[in-house]
Amino acid sequence: MCIPSFILRLIEYAEEHGIDYRNSSIKRIIGIGEGLRDQNFELNSLGKKIKEKWDVDLFATYSSTEMSATFSECEYGCGGHHHPELLIVEIIGEDDLPVPEGEVGEVVITTLGVEGMPLLRFRTGDMACIHPEPCQCGRQTFRISPIVGRKNHMIKYKGTTLYPPAMIEVLTNANYVENYYITISTNETTETDDVTITVGLRQEPDFDVIKDLKDRFRAKIRVAPQIVIAPVDDIRKVNFPAMSRKPVTFIDNRKH
Ligand SMILES: [Zn+2]
Repeated sequence: MCIPSFILRLIEYAEEHGIDYRNSSIKRIIGIGEGLRDQNFELNSLGKKIKEKWDVDLFATYSSTEMSATFSECEYGCGGHHHPELLIVEIIGEDDLPVPEGEVGEVVITTLGVEGMPLLRFRTGDMACIHPEPCQCGRQTFRISPIVGRKNHMIKYKGTTLYPPAMIEVLTNANYVENYYITISTNETTETDDVTITVGLRQEPDFDVIKDLKDRFRAKIRVAPQIVIAPVDDIRKVNFPAMSRKPVTFIDNRKH
């Protein structure tokens, strides 16, 4: 079991030290803490990068300490299977009521297998949808989609609803992008959100980077945020502030 981005670090280390990881005894890896697939169940850019280097079987999961259970995908890789003996799952909308089946909403769980600190209708803050149709593996339980994003990171932008993971996916796919951070602020005039992405470049390409990135955003998420190019070192300072365990790529300056 491994955090997927750490698999890439392992591969890098193995290549630097001449370790033949492809012929190791590792045949399958269960990814935890990070997604490996997009909403169409295709491998996301992280999953693809791992697979290009290392032909292991990758399994995506979704879990949290609070729920003391895991939604794990089967060999068909089309969402994490629900364990009805461990959890009651509801997907709720802005009005706190269940959304129609297949629509994205907040995952709410009630634990059935936890004795010490059971939870009743616990709001996870994670946004996902349910895939109820039977799975090819023969299991009858529904499957939960890859996590679309965190509820409090939801962005209202130019008439659409966005979440950072979809934007990060676009940035990860552009191989000339070295690093980046996303800033969200409130537009005083329209009372909606403004999105600016600050990007550091691996090398200076001989084409219009801002135009290329905007095209990529429009193709993937239908809208293009504002893009600013900045020195890689400046962005690194934002990504890795002192005392932070996780890299910072999302800055929320909205008035809540
Ligand atoms: Zn299945």
